[in-house]
Amino acid sequence: MNPVDYLRISLIDRCNFRCQYCMPEGAELEYILRDSLLSRDEIRVLLQEVFIPLGFRKFRLTGGEPLLRPDVVEIVADIAQLSETQDIAMTTNAYLLADKAQALHNAGLRRINISLDSLDPENFDKIIGNRGKSRWQRTWQGIQTAYEVGFNPLKLNVVVIPGVNDGEVLDLAALTLNRNWHVRFIEFMPIGNASLFQDRAWIPSEELRQQIRDRWGLESGNVTGNGPADVFQIPGAKGTIGFISQMSECFCDRCNRMRLSADGLLRPCLLNETGQIDLKTALREGKSLSYLRNQVGDLLAIKPEINYKMRDSGTENGFYDRSMSQIGG
Ligand code: SAM
Ligand code: SF4
Repeated sequence: MNPVDYLRISLIDRCNFRCQYCMPEGAELEYILRDSLLSRDEIRVLLQEVFIPLGFRKFRLTGGEPLLRPDVVEIVADIAQLSETQDIAMTTNAYLLADKAQALHNAGLRRINISLDSLDPENFDKIIGNRGKSRWQRTWQGIQTAYEVGFNPLKLNVVVIPGVNDGEVLDLAALTLNRNWHVRFIEFMPIGNASLFQDRAWIPSEELRQQIRDRWGLESGNVTGNGPADVFQIPGAKGTIGFISQMSECFCDRCNRMRLSADGLLRPCLLNETGQIDLKTALREGKSLSYLRNQVGDLLAIKPEINYKMRDSGTENGFYDRSMSQIGG
């Protein structure tokens, strides 16, 4: 069993996009009030006094959209300065990245994952629920800036949805031919938008691999921090192509992560709230740090039993009513 040493920290549940699969139009999401978000200081104390002593070494900042958080650069710097931190990364939609990439890099962020579901501006806007001036160009600029600033590896996350962007798989894979970028195709999960999922379902990674194999060939590849992705490479390409296949190949048994929501709830599993601990309330009620460490330690001990077996439980037709933006994807 993998040691649990990886914490995904949601900084905020709000977002400047409304991706169809995550925050569909019309969905009534209840946002966390500002005072209820974990503060910069609370995040630092929790890492330093609770998570690091329990063996956590790798941290990823996510959301909602983490770049909406005004103190995001300072939070990165706090985490990078903890001597035990082995890895700090971020997942973002890149819309605000062009302006912030250099400051984030200076603060110590080195790895970044960017969601990019389409190379076609019109389709992109449709997917992110944008009706105004196209947001594709500014997002693309954010990606380019991150690359120029030196983020490495730079990964692009694509959630593949039948009839929405599955026709772009080869174009997206082709980004890796001449750039040291790492494109990762993610199977659409039953979280966020029930009707889209029921209508469209998901495409097994193997079908995508076959398309790419037929066009260029595919060999095994490698990239830092590949987590649950199976990594391949088009022969001779500069970048790699990863597949995150949580629907077709359950990897719950290898899970090494926990999630801290923007309002301080510690979840042992993306899809399972069993054992969830409200760290923010405990902290604000003045509970001691050793009490919090014991609570989290007890949760770590039972995590293997809690890990949700997506495939074994036949959840393909089931649905989770909280979106990734709320849980901290
Ligand atoms: N806003 C940032 C972004 O989009 O990169 C970070 C948060 S977002 C919730 C994190 C990741 O969750 C994104 O890569 C997104 O594509 C993914 N995601 C959201 N809903 C999903 C779903 N139903 N199935 C698969 N991936 C999903
Ligand atoms: Fe926002 Fe990310 Fe969700 Fe899209 S996937 S709506 S960018 S949180």
